Amino acid sequence: MADCSKIRKFDSPADYTKRFIIREEIDKYLPNGRHFIDEARINSLIETIDNTPCDPIKVREIIAKSESTCETLLPEETAVLMQVTDPELFEEMRAAADRIKHKVYDNRIVVFAPLYMSNLCVNGCRYCGFREGNSEQRRRVLTMDELKEELDVLAGRIGHKRLIAVYGEHPSTSTEYIAETIETCYSRYVPSVRSGFKNSIRRVNVNAAPLPIEDLRVLRSVGIGTFQVFQETYNRKLYEQMHPSWSVKGDYDWRVTSFHRCLEAGVDDVGLGVLYGLCDWRFELLATIMHARDLERWFNIGPHTLSFPRLEPASGTNVPEQSPWLIDDDTFARILVIARLSVPYTGMIVTARESAESRNRVLNHGMTQLDCSSNIAIKGYSDFADESHQEKQRQQFMLGDNRSLDQMVRYLASRSTITSFCTAGYRCGRTGGCIMDALKTGREGKFCKINAVLTFREWLDDFASDETRTIGEKLIADELEGIRHWLPKFYPTVLKQYEATSRGERDLFF
Ligand code: SAM
Ligand code: SF4
Repeated sequence: MADCSKIRKFDSPADYTKRFIIREEIDKYLPNGRHFIDEARINSLIETIDNTPCDPIKVREIIAKSESTCETLLPEETAVLMQVTDPELFEEMRAAADRIKHKVYDNRIVVFAPLYMSNLCVNGCRYCGFREGNSEQRRRVLTMDELKEELDVLAGRIGHKRLIAVYGEHPSTSTEYIAETIETCYSRYVPSVRSGFKNSIRRVNVNAAPLPIEDLRVLRSVGIGTFQVFQETYNRKLYEQMHPSWSVKGDYDWRVTSFHRCLEAGVDDVGLGVLYGLCDWRFELLATIMHARDLERWFNIGPHTLSFPRLEPASGTNVPEQSPWLIDDDTFARILVIARLSVPYTGMIVTARESAESRNRVLNHGMTQLDCSSNIAIKGYSDFADESHQEKQRQQFMLGDNRSLDQMVRYLASRSTITSFCTAGYRCGRTGGCIMDALKTGREGKFCKINAVLTFREWLDDFASDETRTIGEKLIADELEGIRHWLPKFYPTVLKQYEATSRGERDLFF
């Protein structure tokens, strides 16, 4: 059980809203009032993008720098990439983004499922179905028994090993609750539907509101994976329009310093994101680079992942339909390529908010992670027999890609891409600064290749349909051949582990 004795308790939503933010934990990372999100510099870069012609020589130099160093670009360099409109030059950028993705992550795509724990919220975000006062939303917080029912479907029927657990911001889902849900996830072992071998969730990432340092230490102690907090928009004025000043979330600086606190607390896999569609995407991406660079400057650790949620229709609000900054699929594809070149080592997540066509299209634009068999209704996995069933009143927004995990594994395999269920990294201490170096040099890719094959073997035996298994077997044979060729020293051990996995041993990793 997590030790929560040092964290503060709140009597009511009003008490929470009044007292939650700790001012000193913000000020520390904004020394002398200097802000790492430099809006004047961003606006001047956007003016330059709009008013100067694209220089292909400069663009190619920046592509080459990104590919060879794998270091985060300067905002000025990212701005140069944003000037590209010529389709052929963009294709050069896309191809480089794909090469970098392969250098760092090889032909792997990591899969996960969202698990919504609650939709109670003290905030009033104008675009979100969960916001306080939205009477169209039916509210609930999962009990631990209900959570176990959800896990039985996720780990026993679908075969997920990674979750992103999502929480509204409310005293009923305090840090103590979050810690208990994480512990419950890790301790639930469920027989898998095809083989009967026990499966469990091995990595729980969290998407929740910013927390103070003591609370983050508690989450670290229970083995949190990545802590995700989306900034929504880095544009302060727009941020204030979307998030009322009476709400906790109305404090821009509390949110934008949340990862500084994470890294100080030792939660060193942090996931950045912006809600694309609220503001000019160029502003958001340039600010993201500034954010990443400030984390690197303080802690030598950058974002473990970047997420690219787009505004989607939600209950009780028309902001998602009416925002003047909504982006189309072409722009979305551009954002991904520029992001991959700008933060070459980071994981890039594209969620099932996107349509299947959009996700298929951007698979070779630098992305590394996607969710599938997703249900974002509270208790949706165990209440609905049909995985793709959605109910607007029980969920935050509507999903665009309803493919099952089995369908996705099969589709990825048809594109010679291996679905990775590997969660070894953080369990072997390969997190934060340690994993940053391994990623930039391509070393992590090698361990992950082996772990991807072992976990893929597990998944095919435990969950795959016959059709998926057939195509998966062929992919595994190719991958083993690749390991024999590229990693001859490891090959005999890999083979032993592989055979043990085929006999039913589980969770073997390098
Ligand atoms: N309550 C926490 C918070 O806001 O930080 C975390 C959970 S919140 C449910 C997760 C994310 O959902 C938000 O950060 C926001 O980016 C995203 N979101 C909210 N409304 C959305 C919408 N209409 N379309 C797409 N994403 C949305
Ligand atoms: Fe609450 Fe998060 Fe939705 Fe805002 S985005 S209303 S904080 S759940």
